[in-house]
Amino acid sequence: MKKVDFRSDTVTKPSREMRTFMAEAAVGDDVFGDDPTINELQNFAADMFGKEAGLFCSSGTMTNQIAINVHTQPGDEVICHEEAHIYRYEGGGIAKNSGASVRFIRGNQGRINPDEIIDNINPMDDPHYPRTAMVSIEDTANRGGGLCYNFEDIKTIAEICRREKLILHLDGARVFNALQVSGVDPKLYGEQFDTLSICLSKGLGAPVGSLLLGSKLFIDKARRVRKVFGGGMRQAGIIAAGGLFALKNNIERLKVDHDHAKRVGEILSKQAWVDKVLPVQTNIVVGVLQPGICERTIVNQLADRGILCVPFGKGRVRFTTHLDISMKDIEFLEKHIS
Ligand SMILES: *Cc1c(COP(=O)(O)O)cnc(C)c1O
Repeated sequence: MKKVDFRSDTVTKPSREMRTFMAEAAVGDDVFGDDPTINELQNFAADMFGKEAGLFCSSGTMTNQIAINVHTQPGDEVICHEEAHIYRYEGGGIAKNSGASVRFIRGNQGRINPDEIIDNINPMDDPHYPRTAMVSIEDTANRGGGLCYNFEDIKTIAEICRREKLILHLDGARVFNALQVSGVDPKLYGEQFDTLSICLSKGLGAPVGSLLLGSKLFIDKARRVRKVFGGGMRQAGIIAAGGLFALKNNIERLKVDHDHAKRVGEILSKQAWVDKVLPVQTNIVVGVLQPGICERTIVNQLADRGILCVPFGKGRVRFTTHLDISMKDIEFLEKHIS
């Protein structure tokens, strides 16, 4: 039976061209800094966002967790949205890896409002409070249904962080989707953050990997932490090559995913079991079900028809478009969904 897989933008398989590029990549021992492909990828991405250096890691969870570990001391507080990936989907890593605590911001569909930050910074002169060390924001916001930050808000958040001497970190698992919509220059965007985590294995379609970007000093510290976390890899240029290929070939085409997602949104909104569809800005479509309908029932029913999506909290399902979803797949969805 034909299946169309809207579960995540991580389900893509490397294309023939990408595989060839990977197979032919020059490699070396990256723990010694000898892998030319990894070095090229790190420099290429750092340059793109105007940062001094980059570090190739196995996953976005690892890049985020390394950043938190470098930026905090045990007991420090990390400010993030209450539905942030770094808290919700990283296995309690903030506490487990770094002994840090979390301060939640309610925000607006996965995004933090700048004025909410000020109210949540602890006074430094009162020993009752944990030290507020950093702010982490997500762009696009996964739990917000793939919504992007307004760039003016990011600039305001960055100003607040500079003034209050807080580190600003970006969980940019889907930052290229955000930049596709906003049209902001990546260098100007990168300038707002101390550190950025970007994923190669989401919309960009590489099989493995994420990058941590920041100052040379930060990346030197991050490299030590990566080793401690067991993430020092040897001839990993063979996988990094997929990421390099993706950065050079698969950014522009994200627009196609966004157009497909809008179409998925229109199709979903016509279904009797759907109450409404959250605004679609990028490649994520969240359907809010009619009251009393269980998301797992819908996910199972659709799977029986060859349509794969995921439950996304109570009464919600999520569809994600990606490199391996074609217009034909959208037509299949329209034909088989009801
Ligand atoms: C996918 C994702 C990550 C990283 O996930 P990994 O599977 O560990 O690469 C981080 N943040 C957000 C918002 C994500 O969607």
